[in-house]
Amino acid sequence: MKNLILIAPPGAGKGTQAKMLCKEFNMIHISIGDLLRLEIEKQNDLSNFLKDKMKTGSLVEDTIIFKIIEERLNELDIKEKGFILDGFPRNLNQAIKLDDLSDNEYIVIYLDVSKEVLEKRILGRLTCSNCGNVFNENIESLKPKKTNICDNCNFRLEKRLDDTKETFEDRYNTYIKETQPVLEFYKSKGNLYNVNSLDKDKIFNDIVNILRGNV
Ligand code: AMP
Repeated sequence: MKNLILIAPPGAGKGTQAKMLCKEFNMIHISIGDLLRLEIEKQNDLSNFLKDKMKTGSLVEDTIIFKIIEERLNELDIKEKGFILDGFPRNLNQAIKLDDLSDNEYIVIYLDVSKEVLEKRILGRLTCSNCGNVFNENIESLKPKKTNICDNCNFRLEKRLDDTKETFEDRYNTYIKETQPVLEFYKSKGNLYNVNSLDKDKIFNDIVNILRGNV
């Protein structure tokens, strides 16, 4: 199985898809956003820097990101099982770096979602503080059964610090400016696939078909 890169604007559901796909194919999910949030929990100098940076909706410096991604890609589980990358690369420099770091072949999936839908999703997003499952109070099919409680493990659901209207605008603008050029980079390499749907199961099936070579 080839490795997979998910590229999408904020709120398109790449984290949800990455989790479902990892379960299906027994691969490893690498979410740079989650790795950065783990760094923030350590409460050191870097944590405060990252917290402030992520609240503004801009990208964290490449030097910090490269250190995190390089360490993770070198771990044994990744080499054995392969990876699904969620949130990297987010600019051209990172796309070029990934080619240096990983000699494996990969498929790139672009989740194409309109800005209006993204905003609604971001403002309703709830994440489990324990297992990381994602719910959404603005989407009927993704609402938790009990208000603010995880269906999976009964822990409390939380809003992410950067899921506000203001930060969404900034993150979306950063995405257009920095991340969209990455799509052109992969298009010219011939390994980019567009997936365009609002239904999480349909998106999942489309990606599975691409990965199995049925498209
Ligand atoms: P995410 O969880 O993927 O939505 O990422 C949350 C935030 O983490 C982003 O808005 C950025 O501030 C930061 N971030 C995540 N991935 C990267 C990356 N590859 N490069 C720079 N910053 C990143």
